[in-house]
Amino acid sequence: MQLTNLTICEAHELLTTKKISSVELTQAMLDRIHEVDTKVKSYVTVTDDLALEQARKADERIAKGENVTPLTGIPFSMKDCISTRNVRTTCSSKILENYVPQYNATVTDKLADSGAVLVGKTNMDEFGMGSSCENSAFFNTHNPWNLDHVPGGSSGGAAASMSASLASFAIGEDTGGSVRMPAGFCNVTGIKPTYGRVSRYGLIALVSSFDCIGPLARDAYDCATVLEHIAGHDPKDSTTYQSPITNYTQNINQPVNKLKLGIPKEYFVAGMEAGVESAMQEAIRAYEKLGMEIHEVSLPHTKYGLPVYYLLLFAEASANLARMDGTRFGLSVSENAKDVIDIYLQTRHEGFGDEVKRRIMLGAYALSAGYYDAYYLKAQKVRTLLRRDFETAFASVDILLAPTCPTTAFKLGEKTSDPLEMYLSDIYVVSTNPAGVPAIALPAGFSNNMPVGMQLIGKHLDEQTLFQVAHAYQQVTDWHKRNPEIS
Ligand code: GLN
Repeated sequence: MQLTNLTICEAHELLTTKKISSVELTQAMLDRIHEVDTKVKSYVTVTDDLALEQARKADERIAKGENVTPLTGIPFSMKDCISTRNVRTTCSSKILENYVPQYNATVTDKLADSGAVLVGKTNMDEFGMGSSCENSAFFNTHNPWNLDHVPGGSSGGAAASMSASLASFAIGEDTGGSVRMPAGFCNVTGIKPTYGRVSRYGLIALVSSFDCIGPLARDAYDCATVLEHIAGHDPKDSTTYQSPITNYTQNINQPVNKLKLGIPKEYFVAGMEAGVESAMQEAIRAYEKLGMEIHEVSLPHTKYGLPVYYLLLFAEASANLARMDGTRFGLSVSENAKDVIDIYLQTRHEGFGDEVKRRIMLGAYALSAGYYDAYYLKAQKVRTLLRRDFETAFASVDILLAPTCPTTAFKLGEKTSDPLEMYLSDIYVVSTNPAGVPAIALPAGFSNNMPVGMQLIGKHLDEQTLFQVAHAYQQVTDWHKRNPEIS
């Protein structure tokens, strides 16, 4: 038995029957991180001491039989844009390289209360801007299935940490595909919940009207387990829903044969890798066999998804990142500064990477007088059309199926010189964020020896159906059980 490969569910069983301890499980994970992560490079910070302390506490909880949850004693990784008290939180940016938060994000607190064990913070594209993890200011993360390829982004470290068995689950963040796209590239399962389902208090904001925190794990069942523990209303985040959280795992085995599966025709067009297309066709057949009705549907404004997403992202991100000014937290470059404006300029010049600067400039332009109506306001209007596309589709079907990306993971360096090429790889994942609907990514096969990701998109607040449909597929396939051999 390899402890690092266990699902949450399997590990929980072994922990509560005292066949293993959390200290053993956590130590095994830390040992593997120190051995394997020299190649994969998924972690920015490894929290050895904190992890072992939390593991010891979890073992005490289990011994006393007090407050034991399915996450008690389970080691996890956290994307480095989510605040952890006394553990540096960098957003993989030089500007926050030495920033140590004084408070926890709500998600961090909830996981600590559940007894989960934080083993480290994972690498990402700087501030979440990117699709390959190559925009990290620190180092590239490698795809565990082939170290010459990218893990996807921006939660590339989170996905790679799962795929390389360096965590039992990972917490990621998805503004425009950042959980799903790397999950697809690395053969793991990951969910972007409904906007407002999980508190973002303590998440360093990229796009406040898109950002969602979501888990990555070995299967849909484990994702459901984690989401149950991190979702819910939070008085510290006014965008969170009041509605109670469903017990997702309890109903996950409900049959899917009465459900209707929609195939959005705009997502199945030229440009998709042949192996991705055939994996999707096979998945559709698997659902047909499970008794689901298959219908073609249309999301007519799909072609505007990418421009609307990026325009709104540039605008909101340029405003959100204004707080990184060298006077409050993080890097401050004040040598020879004549005045405070000089401090802003020097700090931001040295602290931000090229992609961040590009987006801030484009965003400031889109928001400037004279251009606001033509760009920002127009994009907001088209955003409503994107949302209505989903509403119309969901009037006739329960769930939509699409790939997470037109291709499998590309090579490191392949798209870094062409930002538009890089943006294009997000084509299937970005529309859900302006619309706010939930979507789950899951392994659906291989093409040229690299994993293919599939995405199921659901109705607002209907994570339950997403989990059921993903779980049903994982009962009849074993793609999600395959692990890479890291050479
Ligand atoms: N690829 C998207 C971007 O570059 C990912 C954003 C995200 O989800 N954090 O904007």
